[in-house]
Amino acid sequence: MAKQKSARGKYKFLLVIPLLLLIIGIYYFSQPSGNSKQKILNDISSLLTFSNSRPLTDSDFSQLRSDVQNDSIALGYIDNAVWFADHNIQVHVGHNLSDLYNYYYYGKDEVCVPHEVEHIGDYIRYNDYSLIPSTLDRISRGYSLWYENIQTYKQKFPATYSNFDELSAKINATISNIQQGNYLPTLDNITYITQYDYEGCVIGP
Ligand SMILES: [Zn+2]
Repeated sequence: MAKQKSARGKYKFLLVIPLLLLIIGIYYFSQPSGNSKQKILNDISSLLTFSNSRPLTDSDFSQLRSDVQNDSIALGYIDNAVWFADHNIQVHVGHNLSDLYNYYYYGKDEVCVPHEVEHIGDYIRYNDYSLIPSTLDRISRGYSLWYENIQTYKQKFPATYSNFDELSAKINATISNIQQGNYLPTLDNITYITQYDYEGCVIGP
């Protein structure tokens, strides 16, 4: 009997080995994205550090561009960061890199609707409309959640968000104008919107 129990125990142990290998395999093959995610986060952090000591240039982003490969959301943030670097508006380079960092860190796309409109204002002022469509896409991705969140904040802090209806109306009018190709008349609205871009960012769906 003792020998039978022992043999059965050994047999069970042999069954455990492929199970362990399977678990290790699943873990191993789930990791490359995790490792590349950490590399991307490190590369973004390095660029953010560099941006504090010197203006970034297009070539600074080549490694990061290679890291993110075909991720259109990530490439959008890099395109925007490069544009602001090219125009020596370093503060918005940092915003785009921070948004990209959050996108990889949280796995969700953060959309600051008023702030994205502020970026559009700079594109219009420099008479370069190439990045406006992708910025409008980003706004449309985050708009609903941003709007709902501000409504919640507004109920809790009505004084802080007392102008939200006016702000959102100006944002809607601005987006509508831009979609129709009416860029210059929107700049006054964008100046107003820019003053209130603290009204909130959201982590999008
Ligand atoms: Zn910005």
